[in-house]
Amino acid sequence: MNQPSQREEAADDAAVLPFPTAARRDAEPRGPATPIELEGWGRHPRVMAVAADSDDLRRASRDAVLSRGLGRAYSDAALPPEGSTRRVVLTPRADRIVAFDEATGILRAEAGLSLSTMRNLFLSRGLFTPVSTGTRHVTLGGMVASDVHGKNHHVAGCFGRHVRALLIRAGDGRVIEATPTQHADLFYAVQGGMGLIGHILEVEVALERLPSPWIYEESERLGSLGAVIDALREASASWPMTVAWVDTSARGGKAGRGIVMRGRWATPDEAPKQPPRVKGAIGLPFGLPSGLVGPTTIGLMNTLWYTRHGARPRKHIVHPESFYWPLDGIGAWNRAYGRRGFTQYQCVLPDAQLYGELLDIFRKRGGSSFVTVFKDCGEQGQGPLSFPKKGTTLAIDIPLHRFEAVRALCHELNAFVVANDGRIYLAKDAFTTAQDFTKMYPRLPEFLEARRKYDPDGRIDSAQAHRLGIR
Ligand SMILES: Cc1cc2nc3c(=O)[nH]c(=O)nc-3n(C[C@H](O)[C@H](O)[C@H](O)COP(=O)(O)OP(=O)(O)OC[C@H]3O[C@@H](n4cnc5c(N)ncnc54)[C@H](O)[C@@H]3O)c2cc1C
Repeated sequence: MNQPSQREEAADDAAVLPFPTAARRDAEPRGPATPIELEGWGRHPRVMAVAADSDDLRRASRDAVLSRGLGRAYSDAALPPEGSTRRVVLTPRADRIVAFDEATGILRAEAGLSLSTMRNLFLSRGLFTPVSTGTRHVTLGGMVASDVHGKNHHVAGCFGRHVRALLIRAGDGRVIEATPTQHADLFYAVQGGMGLIGHILEVEVALERLPSPWIYEESERLGSLGAVIDALREASASWPMTVAWVDTSARGGKAGRGIVMRGRWATPDEAPKQPPRVKGAIGLPFGLPSGLVGPTTIGLMNTLWYTRHGARPRKHIVHPESFYWPLDGIGAWNRAYGRRGFTQYQCVLPDAQLYGELLDIFRKRGGSSFVTVFKDCGEQGQGPLSFPKKGTTLAIDIPLHRFEAVRALCHELNAFVVANDGRIYLAKDAFTTAQDFTKMYPRLPEFLEARRKYDPDGRIDSAQAHRLGIR
């Protein structure tokens, strides 16, 4: 259920596609008669669910408990509560373009349209989504529901900032067109609301016009965490896209060494004449044993990644997919962590200097991570539960083969984050308690008020909502 849909895979083979506008409607949502197992991208938890795969979201959402896109939320956000007998709507087949204005770049599409298909349809037309996640296997609905951020958050904000209208099946059953001036409370609460107010049926978003479809990138290797943080801050002051990778295995004077990358869309003069081809992925055909990706392998991978860059700064034109979605080069890479899976701990802190202390806690508790990424954040998103706020965010992948130890580690990291006015990202979170969540999201009452208004009977629900006490 986490793999790209067949339509999406087919789209990957074509250079320029016609817009998928042809009318097709399911008579009834398709779905297995018996419950199937659904899991988060981190493979934990797993929940038995009644799921309906539909290209008619209006119909399928009528009495559904939750919508689910491509299942890239790491943990329980896109899973129904344990024991729910109401169906989850799987949205990726509802991926039609409803309207598109080439002159303004304004796109209206069904919520199941994936970023991957958008890349295929629009990059060759000189347009792209103004905010991209670290994988292209996400849907428009998922991007709104998590109010996603990219490497350019410090200048472009979250995805929701570029959304102009949403068609929503609210929890109370009404189908509502929400905009900044019409049902504005619903419009904003849905952004970052993790699907808990309504099912997003259609999204209208302003695409960004590009000077070329290629990226100009510079990168630099730095020997300590302090140097990485300083270089990231400096880069974010003048570059639209910035990110830093850090080696969490290095110790002593090398602790926190890393690589800072800065990028922008290349000018027509710099860019190759040919358009970037659509890249395929090497599949990971079977899961590896849990525990294979542990401190030793992660240490080796970190050293290799750091050394491979070389000491000299690099400047080059890169393929947009290598820049935005390097992990998508390996299909189903989450299986590398085995059946027990992994979690991604992602938080934002107002002051990047605090990360020295946070990473000390991580190391002392035996944590090790290969995907360890810092990004700078600009102003808070508009949704009451939108994650980013002014400061710097850190994402760390942690294998779950020592489950209880990782849970304890995440609670300890959360205590530090709460004490320092930070918060965790709900699209990644697996362990946060209702108590910590309340402290991290001061606008929660605003969200709950909108939920009571648009879903008074609490018909929409998720496993994450139960864990976080969202009622
Ligand atoms: C490798 C990787 C890299 C990532 N990089 C980033 C990143 O750079 N920035 C970032 O912000 N996030 C990132 N993410 C997280 C990801 O962008 C979000 O989890 C996103 O929501 C996933 O979209 P999806 O379609 O898979 O949604 P799902 O995972 O299926 O669902 C996520 C949430 O959205 C809700 N939802 C989905 N569709 C709808 C709908 N139609 N109506 C209402 N609610 C809906 C679900 O109920 C759930 O709460 C990354 C994830 C992965 C695996």
